[in-house]
Amino acid sequence: MDTLHLTNTTDDITKAGQLLKAGELVAIPTETVYGLAANALDAQAVAGIFAAKERPADNPLIVHIDDKDTVYSLWETVTEEAKALMDAFWPGPLTIILPRAACVPDIVSAGLPTVAVRMPSHETARAIIRAAGVPLAAPSANRSGSPSPTTAARVAADMDGRIAAVVDGGDCEVGVESTVISLCGETPTVLRPGGITPAQLEAVLGTVAIADSITRPLAEGEVVASPGMKYKHYAPRAQVTIVRGDAAAFAAYVNARADEGVMAMAFDGETQALNVPFVTYGAREDRDAQARELFEALRLADDRGATVLYAACPPVDGVGLAVYNRLLRAAAFRVVNA
Ligand code: AMP
Ligand code: MG
Repeated sequence: MDTLHLTNTTDDITKAGQLLKAGELVAIPTETVYGLAANALDAQAVAGIFAAKERPADNPLIVHIDDKDTVYSLWETVTEEAKALMDAFWPGPLTIILPRAACVPDIVSAGLPTVAVRMPSHETARAIIRAAGVPLAAPSANRSGSPSPTTAARVAADMDGRIAAVVDGGDCEVGVESTVISLCGETPTVLRPGGITPAQLEAVLGTVAIADSITRPLAEGEVVASPGMKYKHYAPRAQVTIVRGDAAAFAAYVNARADEGVMAMAFDGETQALNVPFVTYGAREDRDAQARELFEALRLADDRGATVLYAACPPVDGVGLAVYNRLLRAAAFRVVNA
């Protein structure tokens, strides 16, 4: 299949909408990462997403909408907590999980009784949802397991020949996927950290629980609330290890391994003392820049032939928790102290 490369002109957005309406797959820009979209109400179209990504069948998708009222047809009931979160954070990088309505195909939720919904803030994403005229199921537009794409070029590298079109909407502003919160239990629970921080959620809801699977490996066979958390994820081809320590300790640690042909993933402004090739991902305290640049840095390391990559450990609060969560999985939970 020839993959069309579209932009955000009115004509191209109309074209993307037509393709989606016809059951085709289209990669779209969002403020978090690029998404691989299909008509969420068409089980066959959604099956195409799993095939194109080679995504495990038990990993559910997020449904993207452009009008808050659409939740009334997707969720069985819209709770007061959900309304408060929608008012505070939509459009934006927050995904909310509640029991699903009958019109949502099983395959979207991978058979779970719930469905995850988000209203993106990216203007092009929203224009495409309107043009399609249906809610769009859209996971990240990468091959399953690899770093999520934050540019149209990275989508094309993973998906050309597998999908009908890619819409180029520029670089993603947030750079890590949405925060996922479940409102199905007694206490609202963050299943995946993202662009909206736990503190922001607490300001609206009061108490919020954080699933401990966010920062620890799962036990063999463990049942987990967010199936996406159990897979090897976000990983480049290079073997990644997270290194805790200040700039000097990090440099000493990687320089001591220069003979082994290692590469460093360092913070901006902390590369002077490095005697090994490096990529960077934002300054040490700039959590937003780290989120924006993380996935591209991992992919760049692969482009440059890295086989062993030592990554400076990010701060783990605020948006940093999302960055740390992704990096831990990219590193298969290998963390060392410098
Ligand atoms: P991605 O679309 O690649 O960002 O992945 C979506 C994430 O949301 C995965 O980690 C899923 O496990 C999670 N998710 C989506 N729907 C649900 C749901 N109904 N219940 C729990 N987690 C979900
Ligand atoms: Mg993903």
